[in-house]
Amino acid sequence: MDPDCLFCKIAAKKIPAKILHEDADVFAFADINPQAPTHILLCPQKHFASLNEASPEDQALLGKLQLVAADLARKHNLLPGYRTVINSGAGAGQTVFHLHVHLLGGREFAWPPG
Ligand code: 5GP
Ligand code: ZN
Repeated sequence: MDPDCLFCKIAAKKIPAKILHEDADVFAFADINPQAPTHILLCPQKHFASLNEASPEDQALLGKLQLVAADLARKHNLLPGYRTVINSGAGAGQTVFHLHVHLLGGREFAWPPG
């Protein structure tokens, strides 16, 4: 845990959030400023600033994040279409530097993304 990290504080229940999934590897919670009717953030329990800090030993964990996202998409009835997004670096819009997958659904999505 990084004591200065917002999402580590959410994992430790020091900051409240609507937690939607928790296991030994991954936690997920509702985004505070949703960009779609369903907007969930999925994080590894292990602190990484971004995908750039992940290494080959994290391969299974990164895969698990996507599989938990698919599971939550089913549970939240997003099967007509949903999007998983990882913003990596400020230039891509990353604002919280604890790796997270956005799971967005419940509306139509444009391509290419903005
Ligand atoms: P990023 O811009 O880093 O890809 O995504 C960060 C996300 O975290 C944003 O969608 C933002 O709304 C969300 N967020 C920021 N602060 C909080 C917070 O305190 N609680 C929750 N639940 N979400 C947050
Ligand atoms: Zn963190």
